[in-house]
Amino acid sequence: NGSPAVADLDASKLIFTRNLSPKNVVAPNSPEVWSQNYTSDHMLTVRWTEQSGWEAPEIRPYGPLSLMPTASVFHYATECFEGMKAYRGFDGKVRLFRPERNARRFLQSATRIALPGFPPEEFLKLLKKFVGVEAPKWVSEPGQFIYLRPTMIATAPAIGIQRPREALLYVMMVMMPSLGDPSAVPPSVTASAGTGSGQAPEAKRLAAAGMRLLASRHDMIRAWPGGFGSAKVGANYGPTLVAQGEARARGYDQILWLFGDECFVTEAGGSNFFVLWKTAQGRTELITAPLGDGVILEGVTRASVLDLVRRTRPDVDVVERKFTMHEIVQAADQGRLIEAFGAGTAFFISPCSDIHFRGVDVSLPLAKGVTADFARAIRQALKDIMYGSQQHEWGVVV
Ligand code: PMP
Repeated sequence: NGSPAVADLDASKLIFTRNLSPKNVVAPNSPEVWSQNYTSDHMLTVRWTEQSGWEAPEIRPYGPLSLMPTASVFHYATECFEGMKAYRGFDGKVRLFRPERNARRFLQSATRIALPGFPPEEFLKLLKKFVGVEAPKWVSEPGQFIYLRPTMIATAPAIGIQRPREALLYVMMVMMPSLGDPSAVPPSVTASAGTGSGQAPEAKRLAAAGMRLLASRHDMIRAWPGGFGSAKVGANYGPTLVAQGEARARGYDQILWLFGDECFVTEAGGSNFFVLWKTAQGRTELITAPLGDGVILEGVTRASVLDLVRRTRPDVDVVERKFTMHEIVQAADQGRLIEAFGAGTAFFISPCSDIHFRGVDVSLPLAKGVTADFARAIRQALKDIMYGSQQHEWGVVV
């Protein structure tokens, strides 16, 4: 149509600038790790402009970004992100877990908020190269992992509300504790003081005893049909922090997000949510909220739990349908509630011990010391794939 060629994202154009002031590697459970701000030495960045398209990708020293105060992202929430991990397997190889799903979801989130599209497989190539650069130093020991945070923001300095004319795609790697993992014991509160980690005491309790959930109030809605809850955009998270803070102050770990007068159960904090119960007819059922109306984020862990249980547990009916908090209360009252757990990259598979729902306390068997064997088995099966103990197509070697 006569316009100059606009370049697509191209991993083969990658430029590498080594960080000449590399950091120290820190021990897996040190206070630096609990600060959740201990990044690796480099970051991956790619600039995009409406005129020229995607520029040459760069791996360069991790450091501050420079943006004008008028940049779109500071005003109109033109931001989306991903969360994934790179694992050092027990066979010495480094793996990503089903990364093509994150790449596709990243694309979907970006285009939902008018950020530029890209071929997801090209993004994945870049991600692998970046992991390849950092892994030898930052995930050197079998069993270690590092968190990857792909991000995209609209950067054009113009205050008008308009489609992004410039964008920045960037990826950083952050050392993270194994949240919810009983083997990860956070440092004492004094040791983490000053690092900005308010999570250590809570994570310690969570690891020991199971996740405590506070059901959301009717005037705090995370996502709604036709909205953008199914996109991983920053705009979904900032507005949840008041409720999250209230939950923490009251001794809960996460909000269980409900929707509608019926009190449909949707997600738990930054995790999808599953319940294992006996139906009134006596069948064992694993239930989670369905996708499709824009309320639920399509978690990579969620999809994997569903696939795994459908493949390996013919004794369990796997159901994706709307279900309510009242059904959970009734199942608890009738002794049919077996387990509940969150499923997501950060907290992985987190068995739940208690749910507080508007004056009603629902206890799961875990609260009385019954081990969450079903969740633990899923956790182990997924871990085996992530760390290469079981060869599986979900574990993608870098
Ligand atoms: N729901 C929400 C709201 C989330 O932020 C996340 C984390 N990405 C998840 C669910 C779990 O998704 P995943 O398993 O892909 O980490």
